Amino acid sequence: MIESFELERLKSIPIEQVAEALGLNVNRHKCLCPFHEDSHPSLSFHLRTNTFKCFVCGESGGTITLVMKALGLEFFPACCWLAQTFGIPISVEKAPRFRDIRPRTIRPVQKPVEPEKPDLSRLWPLLQKPSLTPLARDFLFRERGYRKEVVHWLRIGSAGTDLLIPYWNQQGDLLTVQMRNLMRRPGEPRFRFPRGSQCQVYNQPILRYLKAGEPLFIAEGVTDCIALLSTGQKAISIPSATLLKSGQLEELLEGVQRRLYGSISTPLNLQMFPDRDEPGEELFHQLQSLYPQIVRHQLPSDCKDFSDYYIKLKHGNSN
Ligand SMILES: [Zn+2]
Repeated sequence: MIESFELERLKSIPIEQVAEALGLNVNRHKCLCPFHEDSHPSLSFHLRTNTFKCFVCGESGGTITLVMKALGLEFFPACCWLAQTFGIPISVEKAPRFRDIRPRTIRPVQKPVEPEKPDLSRLWPLLQKPSLTPLARDFLFRERGYRKEVVHWLRIGSAGTDLLIPYWNQQGDLLTVQMRNLMRRPGEPRFRFPRGSQCQVYNQPILRYLKAGEPLFIAEGVTDCIALLSTGQKAISIPSATLLKSGQLEELLEGVQRRLYGSISTPLNLQMFPDRDEPGEELFHQLQSLYPQIVRHQLPSDCKDFSDYYIKLKHGNSN
């Protein structure tokens, strides 16, 4: 019999270190699932509960279950394997000896650092009932020709000479606010974010409404995103290519795939109008390496980005 305090110690070995000891290659709290044919990592680790779960085949559990399933062991030998691998003394007789065990030390778990939260207390009241100054209306509707219902959906507001572009997540929490100065003096930046803001995917709430097979456009900045939405397309935007490193886009899109198809094996219908410049090309290629199915649309040679194209389309229609 293994004592209960000994079992607790085995259960509290960091689950990702157990997975690594089993030869699984853990990256960003995920790995290829050893329990089904997996080509895209579907097995996730939850550090808070110290458990694993595969979203495709449904296997789940803690450290001992992981060892039992991965090595095909019964409960007792799986406990002995863990104890021997991680050098945890357990008071049992006739413990099986395992060959080929590489002894491991338990490393301290790096707790994910809580990112600094931007202070949005001043902006929040302005965004609950957003109002638009004449300057903001002029920019949004006359100069850019955006559709009113789109601006309303995005809950864009204004204060002074700033346009306030809120970033919401799918649950409706305010993540940050991008401020665009509509009357900037030379040397002043066009866009600002509150201090402590993280790089975020823009227009995340639209993902809740994407239907199976429906095109989802990925734009390079908010203005292109608003222009795409104004043409009746569904669109999100990423403020910079560095966002791709965070895995946030992948996580959001995987959530959509699971909602629509129950797994991440059916690709989404992604589309893009790359900007006609080097960063635009670079971003498209980075996205294409993540999503080979992404459809490329070419802007006309006299349009540098989709906003530009949209303005020309609007003027073309009104002439
Ligand atoms: Zn699986």
